[in-house]
Amino acid sequence: MKTTKKFILTEQEMPTRWYNILADMPNKPLPPLHPATKEPIKPEDLAPLFPMGLIQQEASTERYIDIPEEVLDLYHSYRPSPVFRAYGLEKAIGTKCKIYYKYEGYSYAGSHKANTAIAQAYYNKVEGVKKMTTETGAGQWGSALSFACQHFGIELEVFMVKISYEQKPYRKIMMNTYGATVVPSPSNLTESGRKILAEHPDSPGSLGIAISEAVERAAKDPDIKYSLGSVLNHVLLHQTIIGEEALLQMAKAGDYPDIVVGCFGGGSNFAGISFPFIRENLVNGKNTRAIAIEPASCPKLTRGRYMYDFGDSVGLTPLLAMYTLGHNFVPAKIHAGGLRYHGAGMLVSQLLKDNLMEAQAKLQKDCFHNGVIFARSEGILPAPEATYAITGAIDEANKCDEAGKPQTILFNLSGHGHLDLSAFDKYFTDELEDHELTQQEIEESIAQIQ
Ligand SMILES: *Cc1c(COP(=O)(O)O)cnc(C)c1O
Repeated sequence: MKTTKKFILTEQEMPTRWYNILADMPNKPLPPLHPATKEPIKPEDLAPLFPMGLIQQEASTERYIDIPEEVLDLYHSYRPSPVFRAYGLEKAIGTKCKIYYKYEGYSYAGSHKANTAIAQAYYNKVEGVKKMTTETGAGQWGSALSFACQHFGIELEVFMVKISYEQKPYRKIMMNTYGATVVPSPSNLTESGRKILAEHPDSPGSLGIAISEAVERAAKDPDIKYSLGSVLNHVLLHQTIIGEEALLQMAKAGDYPDIVVGCFGGGSNFAGISFPFIRENLVNGKNTRAIAIEPASCPKLTRGRYMYDFGDSVGLTPLLAMYTLGHNFVPAKIHAGGLRYHGAGMLVSQLLKDNLMEAQAKLQKDCFHNGVIFARSEGILPAPEATYAITGAIDEANKCDEAGKPQTILFNLSGHGHLDLSAFDKYFTDELEDHELTQQEIEESIAQIQ
């Protein structure tokens, strides 16, 4: 019996266009609003932060956007990425379902984040940008952008969430190696950071705070542009290369997924794997369930509210219509750092509101448990974030088996966990905690949104 099977594409077979789901959505997301005037934002309002090429993509309604030659060229250093049939995992959990996974961990960054890092650095380079700034949680995004900026000759400064800066020094060293400067956030370098430190000197930081610092830097300096690793439409767009490849690979496997699963931080890897399949639902009469898996300690999709909120903690970004726990929400220190974000992308929020996708929340210890089963059966040590997708897939397989209706499940394995081994160590020594929010905590946080 086979233990695993790999479905690959050649470079020639790799799709050369990103898919823009905005073209096919029955209801478009509400427009982002200017933080001061509360009027719909105009492209020129975003010009201090982003190059025009990305601002155009952010608002584009074109169904497909060609991937530039130089971006494809660097994609080819790790793309097309493989799809595996997880025979080992199927056997380990004793399911009759067929489980496939798309593996994004072969990139230089070890995760899917390279897909948008390369594109964003490229569009900045084209417009002559010499310096960029960004935030990073556990460091995956910062390390992805560090190399992309180095490749295109751009200087990079990264605000890294302080708790991760302290707990996960390897990602910081990786960013330094690729040539970036890394600052623990909240920092004294920005007004936003100083404001947070004055109120909470021991703040562990959060993605929301780090975003405020990076946005402030770019907004105040005409020579610096800002870059975000998730949430925004153009970021989700760049990730659709994952699902476009997966569609072709599932065809090679002679199969089609009933269920597609991705873990959920701001929505980029979930969108990447699922949007092309949601298109097939909307346009070609397919019927695949797309399920986003978030941590129970940061449950914006399952327990947050759909409303206008800021993308950062201080309130410098445009107001986005999205599922949110409130921009002041500081999630528990779970080890899937990439999933500790208070909000969700506008596109995914609208799709969830329209029941065109689903969301589930999972507990950290269950996810590590399943991550270990996956590592032992498939040989890939998953990123803590990716263990949420693994758990989503396993739980759905179990449900299908109980109902006596085995199905075909495809999940996105967003990255490897080679730099997160200490989290696995904590799991083995039973030092991890599960954290589920009370209804009161959620309501208090949401009530602070004005
Ligand atoms: C950043 C990250 C995530 C979460 O971010 P999304 O934008 O929701 O994809 C998930 N997995 C890995 C490996 C990451 O680095």
